[in-house]
Amino acid sequence: MAEKETAIHAVAQHADHVHWVRERPDKPTWRERFRRWVYPELYRFDETSTPPSPWVDRPAGHYEREGWRIRAAYVGSDLAFQIEYVVCEPCEIGWVESPYSSEGYTRCGLASAALRSLRHDYPGVQWHTAGGHFREAKPFWNSVSVNVPGGYTQRERCHHVEPWRTQ
Ligand SMILES: [Zn+2]
Repeated sequence: MAEKETAIHAVAQHADHVHWVRERPDKPTWRERFRRWVYPELYRFDETSTPPSPWVDRPAGHYEREGWRIRAAYVGSDLAFQIEYVVCEPCEIGWVESPYSSEGYTRCGLASAALRSLRHDYPGVQWHTAGGHFREAKPFWNSVSVNVPGGYTQRERCHHVEPWRTQ
């Protein structure tokens, strides 16, 4: 058990070690299909094996939601935590939603490490949430939003990231 805690702690400490996936797994072109066939190890981490970094940042794969990404933490080959986000450059706003901790990985610092790392990767943007569908308690958001521009307060998403919505 202590070993597992040490492993989780190490992952939280290395939230800047991110493996970025640029491809769109939902709409693979023939070229991507070919790459997947030739380099299966680049794609396999999603399923069962250990990812190349403890943290993975990949397209969320929503057809209708261009630009959404998932930042996920793996402890060994276990998906421990993930959160969806999108950053709108024209508005300089980042939205986060649906943070999810797997069983046995709640309240161990991964969520706040993920948010900190995202703020580092996208400097100069305000951070907000759009919905109230958070499993994490209010004290969690109060603690992670200290000194954060935007403070993860609730705000309607702009038309850049939700183009089908009439405004
Ligand atoms: Zn926008």
